[in-house]
Amino acid sequence: MRSADIRKIFFEYFTSRGHTRVPSSSLVPDDPTLLLANAGMNQFKPYFLGEVPPPYPRATSVQKCARTSDIDNVGRTTRHATFFEMLGNFSFGDYFKADAIRYAWELLTEHYRLDPEKLWITVYQDDDEAIELWRQVGVPAERIQRLGMDDNFWSMGVPGPCGPCSEVCYDRGPAFGPAGGPEANGERYLEIWNLVFMQNLRGESAGGGKGDFPILGELPNKSIDTGLGLDRIAAILQGVDTVCETDLLAPTLATVERLAGRRFPGRNGSDESVSFQVVTEHARSTAFLIADGVLPSNEGRGYVLRRLMRRAIRHARSLGIDRPVLAEVVGSVIDNLGTDWPDLRNQRELITAVVSREEETFGVTLRQGTRLLEAAITRTRTSGGTRLAGETAFELHDTYGFPIELTLEAAQAAGLTVDEDRYAALLEEQRRRAKKSGKAQTAAAMRRQDAYRAILAQHGRTDFVGYTATTADT
Ligand code: ATP
Ligand code: MG
Ligand code: MG
Ligand code: MG
Repeated sequence: MRSADIRKIFFEYFTSRGHTRVPSSSLVPDDPTLLLANAGMNQFKPYFLGEVPPPYPRATSVQKCARTSDIDNVGRTTRHATFFEMLGNFSFGDYFKADAIRYAWELLTEHYRLDPEKLWITVYQDDDEAIELWRQVGVPAERIQRLGMDDNFWSMGVPGPCGPCSEVCYDRGPAFGPAGGPEANGERYLEIWNLVFMQNLRGESAGGGKGDFPILGELPNKSIDTGLGLDRIAAILQGVDTVCETDLLAPTLATVERLAGRRFPGRNGSDESVSFQVVTEHARSTAFLIADGVLPSNEGRGYVLRRLMRRAIRHARSLGIDRPVLAEVVGSVIDNLGTDWPDLRNQRELITAVVSREEETFGVTLRQGTRLLEAAITRTRTSGGTRLAGETAFELHDTYGFPIELTLEAAQAAGLTVDEDRYAALLEEQRRRAKKSGKAQTAAAMRRQDAYRAILAQHGRTDFVGYTATTADT
């Protein structure tokens, strides 16, 4: 089943059950507490918090999500991407747990035709009601596991609605690891759908860590928030091992294969396998971020984008690709996904211009920074030291835009460590200074912003909303 059909079936199922179809919001959220959209519920937050009356009692969407926190998992697990589409159904004080569970089960087993025997369920440890409801749709007790606060309880981190979650996982079999259910093995038992049951009201955090807040009572209007990862269900329905091999990313992976002059070796855990997946996957997040108005910079969202692009370039280099790659791989993302996401197509010129320029700049940076780094490594070693100064790592980051991972890798290869604490302290100090003076941009960064402004003037649309968001952020 093609991913376009997966989306279509999802929408048909929920709109025919009274849900209003709502378009994805931008990756750049209309919410100062959030760097990038990371879940379908983000745009509905004011309804859940009761700040704005919901215009409809039920909604369904395919939301563009970015999760930088998963960046190091890309290619190392089969299931994590930094950008993905989240399919969701939402109830704002309308239907609750019984319907949410029934809908999810029916859609997965009758419409996507997943084998019910392969589905496992996790619930929050105290949620006997959820267990009972899953039993009623036909899940045997031995395929339901109870998990604790860390995994299966949701709250927004502030006083307000909260509640238990329940996840649907798919057993991909022994090729993905030992048995034991989702609790034991998140790779074999692939989590595909998370159902959040907003049923309680929580108070202020006592400050002792996650989950350390009082439950004040039950909400009068209980709500539902769910998220089904498109990449993951596509991997299952298409019988492939990794998100990069689904039809969402396969043409991009093929482009990387062509540039590298060899085939993707599959998910064999090798550095080579990881690099193929990083280049492929980061090309997609790069394209989507720029289409939503993010531009590379050394702060905030711009830094997220820069880091993704530079990581993709580095991994392309380690695949032995010695010429510019970004424009081409990102181009294949636009070709493949531009029909479903027209903003990619509308912004093609801008996206291409931004990635090409970043790759050029990074080439110069890499050469200059590498010289400085090598000199510092030699100095450290000849003086008998084993640790590279935090000041060096900071200068490389600040002046040359050198990602810290690069410095760490180079130091490690030379048998040195890096004073990361000092580096972090210098970074923090600089952030504070920047905040205080109200301008975080170095002269060099300003020049770069000017260059992008020129690109924008050439290619940008008049309603290019992301630009203000990006500058406000730096
Ligand atoms: P995991 O435990 O695998 O990291 P999660 O519990 O963090 O997933 P949720 O926050 O529950 O994920 O998000 C809802 C759904 O979105 C998940 O069930 C999954 O299908 C999908 N999803 C989450 N993170 C990613 C990711 N990094 N890449 C692709 N899909 C994802
Ligand atoms: Mg996660
Ligand atoms: Mg999980
Ligand atoms: Mg989850």
